[in-house]
Amino acid sequence: MPYDTAVSEAWPVGTVTRAPAPDLADYDVISVNLSGGGDSFAAVHELMGAAQAAGVADRVWTFHATLGPADWPDVHDGAGRLHPGAAGMAAAQSLFCGVPAGRHLVGTKLTTGPEPVVYDLLTYTAAYGRFPRLGTRYCTRQFKEAVEEAAFTPVINQLKVTLGLAGAPTAVKLRRPVRRLKVLGLRAEESRARAERPAYRHVHRNGVRHVDEWSPVKAWTKDDVRALHARTGMPHHWTYDSRPGANDWLGTSRCSCSLCFLSARRDLLLGAARRPRYAALIARVEQVRGDTFRPDWSMAQLIEESKRPGAPEPGIVLADETPEFAHLERQVALALAQPPRRLPHLAARLPVLGDGCAATCC
Ligand code: SF4
Repeated sequence: MPYDTAVSEAWPVGTVTRAPAPDLADYDVISVNLSGGGDSFAAVHELMGAAQAAGVADRVWTFHATLGPADWPDVHDGAGRLHPGAAGMAAAQSLFCGVPAGRHLVGTKLTTGPEPVVYDLLTYTAAYGRFPRLGTRYCTRQFKEAVEEAAFTPVINQLKVTLGLAGAPTAVKLRRPVRRLKVLGLRAEESRARAERPAYRHVHRNGVRHVDEWSPVKAWTKDDVRALHARTGMPHHWTYDSRPGANDWLGTSRCSCSLCFLSARRDLLLGAARRPRYAALIARVEQVRGDTFRPDWSMAQLIEESKRPGAPEPGIVLADETPEFAHLERQVALALAQPPRRLPHLAARLPVLGDGCAATCC
């Protein structure tokens, strides 16, 4: 474990457990954010081991925020074997670690109005007029964190009654807030910001909920995560491989949105080559809105570079000929036909020095 986390692991302030790590029995509900990636699997595996030892495994829930066409989808390899996409992997990881299917929640952002439909991230970007940046990371806030909070609201409401904290699920005056521990697959090795983020910290409290956060695999290395997959036999997401089924970890370094503005350049070149139709749609939004996917690299440039000699071999090229993708294309075209909600000039000057998806899911 090469990372000395001693400095950032000082006694936490405001947490339910008054110690550097949580006592799981102190919490009413324990939720694990799953992206379908390797770090998420490590987190839920560690958490469930600790929860079983503490006799509170029945308090564990898992959650996956799906971003629809922005996620890596299910694919088949040359032998016809199915390799699940992000949502399928998240569900499989949860089940593998002993969380019953009924306690795995999946959420997605919907439009408002009388007949809500799925609101794709790229459609939102096209309507907004700017791509996400560190200072305006609406993708994480609106498509993951807000969706997660909404997904757990019924769980929290039910606990108010079953724990005897209030007489009705909708009550806002409780004997004490419902205590929730949010478990993330953050690792210090990934970035300085993650290394400095305490493994256990208090994040939010009001009259109804008290939320603390725990990253049980913060000190793990990438090799630790790979070794866990090998030891347990749990397959990893196909995008980590040079091609689906290769099992060589020579594909993308992260399993996040298939084209994430925080990704490393090699991952973006692989993403553009693996999903040319999606990359072209992003480039179309760039062209119409006058903003670029990142301040330093446009998607149009990445597409060009992904075709040059020496660019990483994609291993698979997705056709993206699904009804969901066709819907996305129509919605993006409709959004681009309207004036943007924000002008792009400010966003284009903001730097990209991210710590990965703050929802962590990625
Ligand atoms: S993976 Fe990247 S693009 Fe997707 S929500 Fe997270 S930060 Fe945003």
